[in-house]
Amino acid sequence: ASPRTRKPDWIRVRAPVGEAFSQTRQLMRRLNLATVCEEAACPNIGECWTKKHATVMILGDTCTRACAFCNVKTGMPRAVDTQEPQHVADAAAELGLEHIVITSVDRDDLPDGGASQFVKVIEALRRTTPNTTIEILTPDFRNKAQAAIESIIAAGPDVYNHNLETVPRLYPTIRPGARYYASLRLLETVKRHAPSIFTKSGVMVGLGEERMEIHQVMDDMRSADIDFLTIGQYLQPTPRHAKVAEFVTPQTFQAYAAIARAKGFLLVASSPLTRSSYHAGDDFAKLRAA
Ligand code: SF4
Ligand code: SF4
Repeated sequence: ASPRTRKPDWIRVRAPVGEAFSQTRQLMRRLNLATVCEEAACPNIGECWTKKHATVMILGDTCTRACAFCNVKTGMPRAVDTQEPQHVADAAAELGLEHIVITSVDRDDLPDGGASQFVKVIEALRRTTPNTTIEILTPDFRNKAQAAIESIIAAGPDVYNHNLETVPRLYPTIRPGARYYASLRLLETVKRHAPSIFTKSGVMVGLGEERMEIHQVMDDMRSADIDFLTIGQYLQPTPRHAKVAEFVTPQTFQAYAAIARAKGFLLVASSPLTRSSYHAGDDFAKLRAA
């Protein structure tokens, strides 16, 4: 590897060990829940699971798309698990979560793209753990977006997150199944229909983007009234996935954060190991207390 692509010492993570970690894993197995922490091979799993923070991935562990950065397996997914909404709520109750992040694979095979399962999960959580704040991280729902968004926002999540993932120039290679402006429009629509729901998006860096392109993405996000922003380093999950073009330095992440705050984002997380759901609950709680 060249000096720019050798893993630097700021990408150090704690090994996943300890009792709290195993308990989190056992709970997910018992309730038959997949997590993005495991499926995406997230580097923060040791830290997060020890603190009993986990991001549940609903609608199974098999995705109908194959993004070049993503470790989730691709194929024909199984039937939707009708027990899943209550299992998610049970997990939130057992873990004592103040904030839960729910995501899903893309289900382009389902007539509603999986939107009704998001609604059922939100309803089960509101019944079982009414004090838990709910953040959902959804797919783009392709041509079903309008109906999907309307039903999901009617269920009333606290935060609606959808990641733009990278700069528009890199979409054809990195996120070939998606359209940059469709993703942007999805978040704009959420905000227009439900101004009280916080909107959130994120990008990975180190895929070959220029700094100015990230600044432009920030401007696009702000023009869609997106409230929260996350920026993290892309890590190649396996040799089959897109290569890391560059390890962005912690100083550059700090510079991005300063620019993002100046552009008016309410919450900004920008560091090498930032992920969409990393410290999401802590940051949101601070914002609500402020
Ligand atoms: Fe899971 Fe998110 Fe933590 Fe990664 S950062 S381990 S995906 S909760
Ligand atoms: Fe991974 Fe989402 Fe792309 Fe599916 S749509 S491959 S889960 S990033």
